[in-house]
Amino acid sequence: EAGGFPREIHEAVLRAAEVLIDREEELTRADRAVGDGDLGVNLSRGAKAVIDSSEKFETLNGPAAHFTALSALLRNHVGGTSGPLYAVLALGLARGYSDVSAREPGAQLAALKRGFRIAVDDMCHLGGAEEGDSTMMDALIPAARVLNDEKHENSGAAELFRDAMSAAEKGTASTAEYAASKGRSSYVGERSIGTPDPGATAVLLWARAAFGPIVG
Ligand code: ADP
Ligand code: MG
Ligand code: MG
Repeated sequence: EAGGFPREIHEAVLRAAEVLIDREEELTRADRAVGDGDLGVNLSRGAKAVIDSSEKFETLNGPAAHFTALSALLRNHVGGTSGPLYAVLALGLARGYSDVSAREPGAQLAALKRGFRIAVDDMCHLGGAEEGDSTMMDALIPAARVLNDEKHENSGAAELFRDAMSAAEKGTASTAEYAASKGRSSYVGERSIGTPDPGATAVLLWARAAFGPIVG
């Protein structure tokens, strides 16, 4: 599969894992301000497991198998509220790719869009958070909306990801404007105003690492 899309996915996931390890302290500090200060550790533990399993992942046959294995890994290694939510994210991506033939032109990008939509819907169902609750969903919901916007039906990956990324950035910035109403940040009430949600900040970090090289 060298050079094929599965390789691209594999490398994007590894870049995401690496940045979460590099920025562990920063995420911990951000979670300490409004939560319980374990987000950096939660995510970097999962990221290390992903990197440790890197060779095993290379032998998997196609993106659906890849994301299914990733989901199990995240479920087992990411702690906190983030663990099950990220496991569901990967599982949704797997479902998006479930009936994709690697040879069909355009099928891979369509699968990613579909997978992202399924994943974000499932995360909303699991966590019960909606847009505006000041969680990581404020980064992910707008991004999923852009990916599935009709105006991007014929857009290439670079343009699509650039637009999705800026929607995620806007959504993350908006989390600093109001108090969190889901997750531990909701316990600190008004004190979470002025600080972007750490979970949304983490989404931006890994998404920039994963998609940055494709966006250019
Ligand atoms: P915990 O609060 O269990 O320590 P983490 O530190 O792993 O969880 O993750 C905290 C992040 O999880 C928050 O910043 C927020 O983005 C996200 N989060 C919390 N609750 C929810 C929820 N119900 N739905 C979606 N995301 C949530
Ligand atoms: Mg926490
Ligand atoms: Mg915790």
